Amino acid sequence: MTTGYVWQSIYGWHDTGSAAGLFGAAPLSGIQPGQHFEHPDTKRRVHELVESSGLLADLVRLDPVPVGPEQVLRVHDESYVEWLSAASTSGGGALGGQGSSPFGRDSFEIALLAAGGTMAAALAVLRGVVDNAYALVRPPGHHATRTHGMGFCLLNNLAITAAELLQAEEVDRIAVVDFDVHHGNGTQAIFYDDPRVLTISVHQDNNYPANSGNLAENGEGEGKGTALNIPLPPGSGNGAYQAAFSRVVLAALEQHEPDIIMVAAGYDAGGGDPLGRQMVSSSTYRWMARMLVDAAWELCDGRLVVSHEGGYDPNTVPFHTLAVLESLSGVRTDVVDPYEQVHARMGGQDLQPHQEAVIDQAAKLVANIPPRKNWNL
Ligand SMILES: [Zn+2]
Repeated sequence: MTTGYVWQSIYGWHDTGSAAGLFGAAPLSGIQPGQHFEHPDTKRRVHELVESSGLLADLVRLDPVPVGPEQVLRVHDESYVEWLSAASTSGGGALGGQGSSPFGRDSFEIALLAAGGTMAAALAVLRGVVDNAYALVRPPGHHATRTHGMGFCLLNNLAITAAELLQAEEVDRIAVVDFDVHHGNGTQAIFYDDPRVLTISVHQDNNYPANSGNLAENGEGEGKGTALNIPLPPGSGNGAYQAAFSRVVLAALEQHEPDIIMVAAGYDAGGGDPLGRQMVSSSTYRWMARMLVDAAWELCDGRLVVSHEGGYDPNTVPFHTLAVLESLSGVRTDVVDPYEQVHARMGGQDLQPHQEAVIDQAAKLVANIPPRKNWNL
């Protein structure tokens, strides 16, 4: 297999400023200046492990091109884009509750290049330049809705790309699999009434955004059945994630029969993440990616595009991402994740009854996805 790969140094220059984790530094309120959770190091360390492991030599580097206004405005409202552009030009700003999603000077342009990274990966796959591709992009995208950025996301990289594929390329149906620990609310909302795009989000129940991504959110109008959520309880580990994939995600993909599978790959369900309370280890990220590679070959000539989202533990995210890239490329490096044993031995890694109950409920929703043979009539 040939695997495309996107990374640009300038992705690391999107400046989230000084913060104490989630909240901007405010010394008089007792918030000591420090690092924002969404700081560049985590993604840089991913790239540096891809390089130092030797895997980079087996990947096909793809150059991102900034997306243009037409592509952005298919997904985002003009008023939001204009505000973001102006704020970015004048030095930066903040989005989300309590300004938890800061951005700096020129972050809008970097976001255009991030969406362009996901776009370059998808186009290379569609045109047969590579079999599949990984876009290591920043800022992330899956929380951004039509009207506002949130959750560290400015523009919805994956939705902008999906809309382009539907509009300008010969793609009729897309499946988006989002395994970030947070709900893929933005992507879901953008395609909520669109039967062409199946969004599947496996996330931690009621983590972020609040009250988002429950089982009852199942699409509307013509898109009824094409939004699928698996809100796993906090404390879910390898057993729960593998069961969710085996019993819901893969069955949903077969039901939808996409022309391409797109993945919102966040690694904050990892056992060491500060913004999630799950326990996934590298071996399960590797396994999930392999399942998606196999599903893509079974359903859509191997077409699989992965776009990097969250993941905030700089020590473990590089190993998780490398495991996914190894599954995509079929190349196994000599790197062994030292955290695998730390996380895999945690109590409760096997599927627990209360987790299985949620997966059972989600599995019933697969039947709501309109089968392709009906849809084409
Ligand atoms: Zn996340």
